[in-house]
Amino acid sequence: MANSSANGASALSLVNIAKHYGAVKALDDVSFELKKGEFLTMLGPSGSGKTTSLRVIAGFVAPTSGQLMIDGRDMTGVSPQKRNIGMMFQDYALFPHMSVADNVAYPLETRGVARAERRRRAMEMLEIVGLAHCAGRFPKQMSGGQQQRVALARALVFNPDIVLLDEPMAALDKKLRTQMQIEIMHITKQVGATVVSVTHDQEEALVMSDRIAIFKDGRLAQIGTPQDLYTHPKSEFVADFIGEANILRGQLRHDGALAVIEGPGWRASLPKSDPRVAASSASPSLVLRPERIHVNRADAVADAANGAEGVIVDKIYLGTEYRLIVRLADNAVIQLRSRDIATLAALNAADRVRLSWQPEDLVIIAA
Ligand code: ADP
Ligand code: MG
Repeated sequence: MANSSANGASALSLVNIAKHYGAVKALDDVSFELKKGEFLTMLGPSGSGKTTSLRVIAGFVAPTSGQLMIDGRDMTGVSPQKRNIGMMFQDYALFPHMSVADNVAYPLETRGVARAERRRRAMEMLEIVGLAHCAGRFPKQMSGGQQQRVALARALVFNPDIVLLDEPMAALDKKLRTQMQIEIMHITKQVGATVVSVTHDQEEALVMSDRIAIFKDGRLAQIGTPQDLYTHPKSEFVADFIGEANILRGQLRHDGALAVIEGPGWRASLPKSDPRVAASSASPSLVLRPERIHVNRADAVADAANGAEGVIVDKIYLGTEYRLIVRLADNAVIQLRSRDIATLAALNAADRVRLSWQPEDLVIIAA
C-alpha cells in the first residue's frame, strides 16, 4: 500500500471546512495545510472560530461541509478516539487520584499498551519535560507550571499524529506563561510533534509558532510565518492584529518615476516600478510600524517625499525608548517609538514635529 506521508502529503489538511450553527457561520470555507513537525497557532478575536476549528480537527464537531485529512487520509467522519490526537485544553485537568506517572501513562493504557512498556514510555516523557523526579507525586502536590508540563507529557506520550492546544496557558500568571511558552515550543520540537495551538495572545503566537493563522468572523484572514504577517499583512485587520500599526488612508498618484500616496499633511513615495505599486488600488491604506517612523524637530531639513508634519499630543518615557503620539493635519493620530533619546528629550507636548520614514518600510494595503 502507498505510504501517503512518504509521498509528501501534509500532516494535516483542512479543505473548505464550514461549520454552521443555524444562521451562525462559526467556520466559513477554511482551508490550510500543515507539514509534519510544524507548529501552527490560530489567533483571532473571541468568536472568530478558533475553538471550532480545533474541535473539527479533534472530531468533537462534525463540519457542515468540507474535508479533513490527517497524514493524507480522509478523517472527516472518523470518531475522536480513532484519530490519534493529543490534547491539552485549559479545562482538560489531570486525574487528581492518579500519580503523575499514571496520569502520563493513561493514554497508553486506553490504547492497550502493556504495563512495563507504559511505565517506560511515561518515564521517558517525564524525563523530557523535566519531571522524572516527580513521578510518584499527585497533581495537587505540584505547582501550576509543573501540572502544565505533566499535561503536555500526557498529550505527547502516545506519539500522536497531531497535538492540539487550546489556550493552555490562560490560567497561568504572565511570568510563568512566558516561560511555559518557550518550554512547550522546545519540547514539542524535540519530539517532532505537529501542533495546532489556539490563543488570543499575539505575543504567545509570535513566540511559539512556525506559522500563524489569523481568524476573523469564521474565516481565515491570513496564514504565514510571524515575519511574513508582520511585514506583509494583506489587510488592515491583520496589520493591526500582529504588532502595532498606524494606518493612514490616502490617494495614489504618479509623479514621473515615482508613485506617491498622500493624505492631509503626509506623503509616501516609492519607485513606480515597485511591485507594491502594481498591487495597490487608487485609494490604498498605508501601514506604518511605530518603530519605523523617525521624529525630527519641525525646522529640521527633511525628505518631503516620505514624511508627515504634526503636533505632539503625548510623550511617554519607557526607559529604553520613548513612545510619541503625534496628531497630523486631518486629526489622524500616529504612534511611534523612538530610541533617539537626545532628540526626544528636547521635544514636548504641543511642539510641531516632522516625521519621516523609509520607502522600504511602507506596507501598502489595496483597500
Ligand atoms: P473562538 O474560539 O475563536 O472564540 P468559537 O469557535 O468558539 O470562537 O466560536 C465561533 C462562533 O461560533 C461564535 O459566534 C460562537 O458563538 C459560535 N458557536 C460555537 N459553538 C457553538 C455551538 N455549539 N452552538 C452555537 N453556536 C456556537
Ligand atoms: Mg475559543
